[in-house]
Amino acid sequence: MRQSQLFAPTLKEAPKDAEVRSHQVMTRAGMIKQVAAGVYAYLPLGLKVLQSIERIVREEMDALGANELLLPALTPADLWQESGRWDKYGPELMRLKDRKDRDFLLGPTHEEVITYVVRDYAKSYKKLPIALYQIQTKFRDELRPRFALMRGREFSMKDLYTFHTSEDDLDIWYQSVWQAYLRIFKRVGLDVKVVNSETGQMGGKSAHEFMVMSEVGEDTITFCDTCDYAANVEYSKLSVGDRCPSCDQGKILVAKGIEVGNIFKLGTKYSESMNAKFTNDQGKEQPIIMGCYGLGVSRTLMAIVEQHTYDNGLIWPKEVRPYTYHILIADNTNAEQVRQAESLYQSLKTKASVLLDDRSERLGSKFQDADLIGSPIVIVFGKDVAEGYVEIHHRVMNQKERVVLKDIESHLIAS
Ligand code: ATP
Ligand code: MG
Repeated sequence: MRQSQLFAPTLKEAPKDAEVRSHQVMTRAGMIKQVAAGVYAYLPLGLKVLQSIERIVREEMDALGANELLLPALTPADLWQESGRWDKYGPELMRLKDRKDRDFLLGPTHEEVITYVVRDYAKSYKKLPIALYQIQTKFRDELRPRFALMRGREFSMKDLYTFHTSEDDLDIWYQSVWQAYLRIFKRVGLDVKVVNSETGQMGGKSAHEFMVMSEVGEDTITFCDTCDYAANVEYSKLSVGDRCPSCDQGKILVAKGIEVGNIFKLGTKYSESMNAKFTNDQGKEQPIIMGCYGLGVSRTLMAIVEQHTYDNGLIWPKEVRPYTYHILIADNTNAEQVRQAESLYQSLKTKASVLLDDRSERLGSKFQDADLIGSPIVIVFGKDVAEGYVEIHHRVMNQKERVVLKDIESHLIAS
């Protein structure tokens, strides 16, 4: 991609309300733009990363044998009246009426709709288990939309729902989704802690949250300094210095976390209220046992930026970076610099993702933008080109290297 054609409206200053670095970087890099409180446009660079996260999520969900579908965001109130949540959900629910005065809502989550889709089909144990997921825009009229995509009123979620004949079968899925989540977060470059959590609004049995440890997180986690015990503070009620209830040796520590995903054993809450029943192998009718598994796709994007922004800007993790190489032309009135940079760009772009800064900007502002765009390797075609050299900036190691121009490509591929 040529930067002269890239729509990335970068800003010198972050907006005043951008309190955390991920919000500052995302807006300064021209990756997102606020349209209303908690409602954002994904600009091309932001969208590219979002789509990489989605690709990884899809690969891991498909590998489990889950099927992707897409449910409507616009949901008739009837289904939520069946489950009882139309009255219980509260002001976070975006409610609206159609022209005939019928009640609708914009889905904040999709247990009701998925139960409706599955219940007519899964009448026999022979049809189960079923695993269905979607990546979809969700709507919640959050009291305090915050930190851009971190807590949005419109946001992207991957939601998986599984349907089973027994608790044992649900257990097997629960464990394998847990492992898939660990792989997803590792691949997008996030370290997560798995914590025990209350089920809250969903109302089920066992539940775990996947937390990125960060000062900007809104959740408080208690965890052991010795074993892998970790629980949401709302659930453990433990405090700093307590003895670990799990290993009985370690001490409890407390820290903030960003919840990027969660897994719930729903049990029969929705299948009972919405009459989703199957006939078992004895010919007896039973409610289907369900699990649900959310993953905040747009929040994950923010968490990545929050965790991968350093003094010298953002450096994207490998699997989600928009461009591996960023080529800068120091002076685009210098014919030799342009010719050599173009030649590397043409050849490299057939093998890797490359951004060529061919704009007529000062080199200083090109560097500033490169720090925000976040490629790990920046290649500068400057004055040294006349003597047959270019400069490579390895941003991860914060090192510069002067390389013979004619060796540049093999050097890059090797390093
Ligand atoms: P939170 O406690 O942060 O409000 P939640 O318990 O309401 O999250 P779920 O309803 O289970 O979350 O949604 C699944 C996932 O969607 C969450 O783990 C989180 O990553 C993401 N998510 C939830 N609410 C938002 C939001 N307002 N903006 C962005 N992502 C969100
Ligand atoms: Mg919530």
